[in-house]
Amino acid sequence: MNAKILIVEDEPAIRELLALNLRHAGYEPVHAPDAAAARRSIDAELPDLVLLDWMLPDQTGIELARRLRADARTRELPVIMLTARSAESDKLGGFDAGADDYVTKPFSPKELVARVRALLRRRAPEAGDEPVEVAGLRLEPETFRVIGDGQPLRMGPTEFRLLHYLMRNVDRVLSRGKLLDGVWGDHVFIEERTVDVHIRRLRLALQPSGHDRLIETVRGGGYRFLPQ
Ligand code: CA
Repeated sequence: MNAKILIVEDEPAIRELLALNLRHAGYEPVHAPDAAAARRSIDAELPDLVLLDWMLPDQTGIELARRLRADARTRELPVIMLTARSAESDKLGGFDAGADDYVTKPFSPKELVARVRALLRRRAPEAGDEPVEVAGLRLEPETFRVIGDGQPLRMGPTEFRLLHYLMRNVDRVLSRGKLLDGVWGDHVFIEERTVDVHIRRLRLALQPSGHDRLIETVRGGGYRFLPQ
């Protein structure tokens, strides 16, 4: 089934441009010209993602985003904010209100579609919430715990996702691009060396139980998680 994208935008020309590009990319766009219409649309059927204009005739996009975050039904709904403003404080305001990403007008439709795709992929349910165990290293997705030979290991959320991905792909050579796709959702906007930074942090986090030995650097290839 195609992902349904709700476009909340009062300018018809921008709405049409967005809808056209999303349809071309295989998504199902639906429109709302203001916040009230957006709420009615969301009440009727939950979309997969919301593109939310900052300046709407009846309410600001920020206010709507806050409402969505406050409601259990829409708390996890991915939101990308659209705005003509580019000031850094506004950007922070958008993230405060609960936008997941932010695009400044005028935007390139191609970039916007790429961001939609990345966010949807990031939000897609993980392949299994089951605990994974490799060579005495255990990762529990539901409790967010990593245990090495009975010892709890501490790490950040990105290292956790990275480790989970590596453990699901044991003994495979994973290029940096592949890791960015699998862990970050898309490799269009992130530099490949970001992967090296997080691999380094992950190795440090695994050191107390010696499981850092399982992460092998493959010359010219990327990384491989060893089975033992
Ligand atoms: Ca507007």
